[in-house]
Amino acid sequence: MPETVYIGLGSNLGAPEDNLRAALERLAQVEGVERIAVSPFYRTAPFGITDQPEFINAVARLSTTLEPRALLDTLLEIEKEMGRVRKQKWGPRLIDLDILLFGGRVIEEPGLTVPHPGIAERGFVLAPLADLAADLPHPTLKQNVKQLYDALGASTDTRRIESEG
Ligand code: ATP
Ligand code: CA
Ligand code: CA
Repeated sequence: MPETVYIGLGSNLGAPEDNLRAALERLAQVEGVERIAVSPFYRTAPFGITDQPEFINAVARLSTTLEPRALLDTLLEIEKEMGRVRKQKWGPRLIDLDILLFGGRVIEEPGLTVPHPGIAERGFVLAPLADLAADLPHPTLKQNVKQLYDALGASTDTRRIESEG
């Protein structure tokens, strides 16, 4: 049975919107992955390290027959092919692809934590996720996406922009 998966996308180097679109195109071409929906794009103040360009963020809903580890490997491969170099945690990047939710699964393995542990504190994840799935329950936090977003409150750093993927 295919699972419904939510992927978080982010970029703040080069042409970030084009980078998101390019990553989405590559994802849709992967065997066993079907792209169902993409949120609007958001412009976001940098997180963690604030002295770097603004990010463009979005969330995509996929349907996949891949197992979580295979999907993660696919995402890391796309990041690499697109020229991402990992230098600094939370530093500037051409493209970042995170597995946010993988059906209702809870996974804690070396190198793979699902749901993504940052969801509840990140407006740039919750805003686009709420566009696609406001009523979706978080598998461990016992709240849906809309409730998590409302609880976060201060989301002024994240603004929706007109163009989308
Ligand atoms: P954050 O995960 O806090 O958003 P980041 O995206 O900047 O930080 P990366 O350098 O992109 O972190 O990823 C580091 C490692 O995180 C990856 O090599 C991957 O193995 C691991 N990882 C663990 N859980 C996940 C997940 N749900 N989605 C993507 N990567 C994950
Ligand atoms: Ca990330
Ligand atoms: Ca990542």
